[in-house]
This record gives sequence, C-alpha cells and structure tokens, in this order.
Amino acid sequence: MSSSRLAAYYGLPEKVVFCKRCVMSNQRPSSYPEFKHTKDRITPTLHIGEDFVCDACRYAEKKEDIDWEEREKELIKLCDQYRRTDGYYDCVVPGSGGKDSCYAAHLLKYKYDMHPLTVTWPPILYTDYGYRNFRNWIEVGGFDNITFNQNGRAHGLLTRLAIENLLHPFQTFILGQKNLAPKIALKYNIPLIFYGEPEAEYGNPIAETSTSLRDKSYYSMKDISEIYLGGVSVPELIEEYNLTLNELLAFFPADYSELEKSNIQVHYLGYYLKWTPQEAYYFATENIGFRARPFRTQGTYSKYNSIDDKIDDLHYYTTYIKFGLGRASYDASQEIRNKHLTREEGVALVKRFDGEFPDKYLQEVMEFIEMDTNHFMELCDHHRSPHLWQKQNGEWKLRHPVWESE
Ligand SMILES: [Zn+2]
Repeated sequence: MSSSRLAAYYGLPEKVVFCKRCVMSNQRPSSYPEFKHTKDRITPTLHIGEDFVCDACRYAEKKEDIDWEEREKELIKLCDQYRRTDGYYDCVVPGSGGKDSCYAAHLLKYKYDMHPLTVTWPPILYTDYGYRNFRNWIEVGGFDNITFNQNGRAHGLLTRLAIENLLHPFQTFILGQKNLAPKIALKYNIPLIFYGEPEAEYGNPIAETSTSLRDKSYYSMKDISEIYLGGVSVPELIEEYNLTLNELLAFFPADYSELEKSNIQVHYLGYYLKWTPQEAYYFATENIGFRARPFRTQGTYSKYNSIDDKIDDLHYYTTYIKFGLGRASYDASQEIRNKHLTREEGVALVKRFDGEFPDKYLQEVMEFIEMDTNHFMELCDHHRSPHLWQKQNGEWKLRHPVWESE
C-alpha cells in the first residue's frame, strides 16, 4: 500500500522528506503560539526545498555571509539607546539556568554594560544538577532574579491535560518560558527583553530571521477566548476541571493592548551575535561553573543541551512518537549545521539513540501529574500517526527512518 494513502495526523505532510544536509524531516513543526495549541490544529512544518535543503540549513548557510561586526554595532547602538545610568534595570533576560541564558545575561552585563534583571519560570521538575546550574548563574554570575513559583496543583493538572490531549509534556514550561518575561517587563517597566537563539535557526519560516524582533503574536493575547491550555478552553477548564481564573492567569500570555502601549521589545541576541550552542556551553562552564549532566541523556548522545527539567527527556520521546523525530535528530541536526558533525555521523547517532525510552525520571513525572505509566504508554500509541508508524511482529517501527547519505 502506498504510504500517501495513510492518514497523517496533526496536518503533517503525507510524504516524508528528509533534508540532505541535516537529519531533520519535513515533519518537524515550526513554532506556533503555544496557547493556541488544540487537538485539531494544523501546524506549519519545516520547509524543505526542491533541492532537499531545509530552511534551517539554508539559514545556517546564510549565517556564513552575515557581517557579524556590523550586527554587533547594531546591538551596541540598541544598548546605547536603552542603557540606564540611574541604577535601574534596562533589560530582562529570561532563563532557568541553561547555558544559553547564562551566556546571554553575562554578555549583556559584562561586555555591553547593561543591567539585566533575570526572570525564571522554573522547570516542571528541576534536576539537581539543573538547579545547581541555576543557582550558580545567579550567585556566581551575579544577577538579580525573579522566579515565579507555580501553583503546583494547577501546574500538575495542566501538564497532565497537555499530555492527555496533545501528548505534549512540555507545554506548561513553554507557556511560562515565553509568557513570563513580557509580563514582568510590563510590571517593572523595563523596555527590552533578550532571548538567546532565534527560533528560525531550527526551522521557522526563514523570513523570521531577517529581524531581531520576536513577533508579538507569540507572547500576547487579544482576548481570553483565544486561550487553550492543555488543549482545553478557559471556560471548560473552570467548569470541568475545577480551576479558577486566578489559578490559570500565570499561564496566560501578556495582554496585547498593554504591550502595545508599553513599546516593550523582544529581541534575540542570536540575531546580533553569532550563536553556537557549543560555545555558549564552554562560556557558561568557564564563567559560572555550568556543569553538564553527569551522564548521557536518554534518547540522545549529548550531555549539556536542556538538562534542567526531568520532563524534558519525555518531551523528546513524544516528538519521536508524533513526528518520527527524537532528541538525537534535533541535537545532531543542530551540530551538523554548526559543522561539529558530518551528516553520516548524524545519521549513525539518530539510528543509535532516537526513540530510546526515557525511563530514568518517568516514575517521578508520572507521580507529579498523577498518571499511571500504562495509561501514558496507551496515549503514546494513540498519538502515532499511521503515515509514520507500522507494527511489525508486535513492535512499532518507523515507516520512514532517516535517509542515509548518498
Ligand atoms: Zn537541514
């Protein structure tokens, strides 16, 4: 039977195509306002051209031609325009203590003479080494920090709903990570927010890379009727799940009209400075004592990429289920683009590690969200798109594993 006749869930392209440079496929969703994520949304996905090169690789190529000295001058100009000399904060740097936020805050403060307020939406379940990295960032790095500690009951319930309805364990973290900084910036009247890497580096529409600014649609709302958490509308969360509006507020984006009035700008430092995760890692290690995970992360080969949340391993397992792309696919693609791996090496790593089941923290996560492990496994099977998966001798196999290099 031709695979094009098999149902494709989530609006994914029916025909699976891999990039010939990295190991990503056209099944990878682009980023999308997280609070609009519903069961039947159609997500835009990574564009791969007729030459079999994806937009993320295209962007990596473009990065080679960027005049980085010119871009740094733009950054200095921006900083000169907003730098405060009266002792007040002039920018917000969101982060939970990962290498990229450490690097961003450090550069802004010590190289560009800015006065960042760091803002943290903590991981769903901190790993102990992740928490140590966070403390080091603040204590060794020398930053003021506002941490928003979530209401555990609402947090656990919304995380469970996101898994049940969307198989998306990481949703509450993404919501907070995108929404908290603009809200704090509004409250404290701080005009600039700096994130690290532009998301386009991972395959958003390439047009988004031509600006340093983040579009407001990702972090603001015009009306509460736009909001879905765990795929459930706000009225339903209140009526069916016994949550109050007050308990949900922390997960909402900032108000659009308030943001309009304030002129707060969200920038990517990666637009102004050539950003490579490995360099951010080395920098954070040297300057604030950042430590990699003491063991290999399940599902991949790396030790230092997003290691502060126990639920993260599960998140990448679910991307493997939904899109056929596990954590090694993401890690290897990025390293191929930064020329730290060849495509052949990437393919071998994907074959070896993608989809490895992350059992290390599973029990703890299941306890936090009050879910039975068997139920989680059933949900996984329920979310396997027929165009990607088939059962062979009782085992699930990908119909379209990563293409070998020619
Ligand atoms: Zn690619």
